[in-house]
Amino acid sequence: MKPILLAKARFRGASPEEFRELLKETLGFDVGMPFEGVERILCIQPHPDDCELAIGGTLARLSREGKEVEYLTLTDGSAGSRELPPEELRKVRRREQERAAEIIGVKKLLWLGYTDTKLPYSDDVREELIGIIRSERPDLVLAPDPWLPYEVHPDHRKAGLLAGEAAFFSALPNVGEGNPWDVPLLGFYYTDNPNHIEDVTGFLKLKLKALKAHESQFKEDWNSWEVFVRSVARFYGEIGGFKYGEGLRILPTVLFHANPLAGVL
Ligand SMILES: [Zn+2]
Repeated sequence: MKPILLAKARFRGASPEEFRELLKETLGFDVGMPFEGVERILCIQPHPDDCELAIGGTLARLSREGKEVEYLTLTDGSAGSRELPPEELRKVRRREQERAAEIIGVKKLLWLGYTDTKLPYSDDVREELIGIIRSERPDLVLAPDPWLPYEVHPDHRKAGLLAGEAAFFSALPNVGEGNPWDVPLLGFYYTDNPNHIEDVTGFLKLKLKALKAHESQFKEDWNSWEVFVRSVARFYGEIGGFKYGEGLRILPTVLFHANPLAGVL
């Protein structure tokens, strides 16, 4: 964190409201308008479908506002079926993700292809992510909140940790390969601690259409999935004062280290 920010925070006592004001003054970040000035977004997902299930409405909205959205999928999704064998499923899920991404308006798809359920939490994967961030140069990196209570899927927890670490370290010239890139903003989806609710009332239809494209995941029990997706959107919408919403925790990346205030905003 920039020393001036800490010094001012200490001087003022830093209630959440005061800290919000400080972020505006010192980093130019308005927590009420987190996408202001963002042009390139890298949405990192453990499996094909996570970006859309979590924040498909937000991504559809942002891509239609002219922002460039890219997906980075870390695993092959080969564990996500009781019927199809892994080799077939990984191909099916790639095709489904390509169709869904087109519906959302995603410009580019990147894949790492690790085995579903076995994403390694390692320095090597982190350096792979740093390399991708440095070549794609996003203004905002999105990933699952690794601290979501009761999240049992290791790929989700590891994806969130690795993405956060890579977004933070990609600015450091002595870490990894390639030219450093300062990721200004980091955001977590699938979060129970959002600091931003995006109004997706006009984009829920598109989100549902994109999810439907993941036939191997949702087709069989579509009616229940639709109820679930609408319920989650109403849960967040209720908090934000909209019919349907999606929740994110977005902050300047520099605040995600040694900062006791990152969780209170
Ligand atoms: Zn997943």
